[in-house]
Amino acid sequence: MSLLKPFKLIGIAHRSGVVTVRYPFQPPLVTPEFRGRIRIDASKCIGCGACVNACPSNALTLVDDGERRALNYFIGRCIYCGRCADVCPVGAITISREFELATDNIGDLNSRVIHYKATCSCCGEETTATERMISYVVSRVPVTETYVHMGSRCRKRRFIEGLMMGRGMIYGESER
Ligand code: SF4
Ligand code: SF4
Repeated sequence: MSLLKPFKLIGIAHRSGVVTVRYPFQPPLVTPEFRGRIRIDASKCIGCGACVNACPSNALTLVDDGERRALNYFIGRCIYCGRCADVCPVGAITISREFELATDNIGDLNSRVIHYKATCSCCGEETTATERMISYVVSRVPVTETYVHMGSRCRKRRFIEGLMMGRGMIYGESER
């Protein structure tokens, strides 16, 4: 039985025909669904970090450096799952079909998008948002513009003051 097995396999292989290509001498089969390295459109990215939260392998990271915030993509850690593209609210990430990524220069495996942190319009301190995030929110929901330029601390203080004023605990302009 064991002696016949190889002949059986040869017969199956013969009937199946050639199922491989002579890559790299012939182009490989890359289907439309194939997921290769991701591309981040710097002109669209707002630096929200949603992709960083969704990335299971930490290929995407947000790094603060003074007034700047960098979105880093390290291909060496990417598992090409595509979750980052799914969650990006502005469609800045596309999944390419590039897979020939071998290099002897590790710099080729890194890319980054630089953002600038927004400052609070009330106290001037840095906020957790980027300037582009603020612009994006204002363009989508203009009614929030009064608060959106504030940091979370000033926004909370303004909210509590509003509540207290409503209950007569603080005398505002309108109550005099
Ligand atoms: S494709 Fe997956 S692993 Fe690669 S950067 Fe996006 S979320 Fe991370
Ligand atoms: S989710 Fe999109 S917009 Fe947000 S940081 Fe990532 S690439 Fe930029």
